[in-house]
Amino acid sequence: MKNLFLLLFISLNLFPCVESAESDSGIRGKPYKEIINDLKKLESQTKAPVKLIKYGETIKRTPLYVVKIGKAQKKSPAVIISGATHGNEYLNIADRLPAWFANNTKEIKNFFDKKGVIYIVPIFNPDGYDKRMRENSARQDLNRDFSLESKKQFRFVHNETKTWKEFLEKEISKYELDLKVSMDYHCCYGALLFPWAYTTRIPLKPAAQKKHDAMGELMKKEINSKYIYGSTGEILWYTPKGTSKDYYYDKFNAISATFEGEYNVEDQNFSKHTKWWSEILNNL
Ligand SMILES: [Zn+2]
Repeated sequence: MKNLFLLLFISLNLFPCVESAESDSGIRGKPYKEIINDLKKLESQTKAPVKLIKYGETIKRTPLYVVKIGKAQKKSPAVIISGATHGNEYLNIADRLPAWFANNTKEIKNFFDKKGVIYIVPIFNPDGYDKRMRENSARQDLNRDFSLESKKQFRFVHNETKTWKEFLEKEISKYELDLKVSMDYHCCYGALLFPWAYTTRIPLKPAAQKKHDAMGELMKKEINSKYIYGSTGEILWYTPKGTSKDYYYDKFNAISATFEGEYNVEDQNFSKHTKWWSEILNNL
């Protein structure tokens, strides 16, 4: 019996992102509609180049939005930030970043001088988010619905991922954007997870590994020295197929990561996250 409890304790703590019941962030946010209304206000009131763009709808007809910050030009460096792909792993960071970037353009001057552009999807899975649920309303895990075309995995079957991919790839080819970094905010492990998620057998290209490791070191410096980084298999001991980070690395050669915040407290680290982002963006 004691062993059973021990096993239960270990499994609940080690696999936060595997099973729905265990991955709740403990952090509560406003209803999705209110988050979007705040972003509409930001768009109309700020002098910074902020645009709120609807790129699709869920099967419940909930609109899907991305905030675009910066004026893209030919070959601009680009960054993608997303939150609540797992609706119950909301950290209240991705949805606060648009206002912070808009109000602190001086902090990321180098990035904007290079005509950099930031795409933020504050709530990637709004139906799941409003119901405090990992999956979307059709009970599908969206972070298993991205594809590696090079490995002949063809997914993008759910509205949230399909419409995002269509929007993003159109933007990237329109401006020939150079996608430098992607970050998807999850909970709860205190870690930065890199590709490949789908296998532990294939290493990243050495130059890419170096860049990922440098971002991991920067996270330890700015967020928490106890957080760890590495591939999903190294850190979480399983190899999920269809995660967003594998897609962004495979297709665009981006430094690509899943940030796993800490239960109940990660929202309090917001100023550390903005410092981390300032360093990441200014050094691209
Ligand atoms: Zn997750």
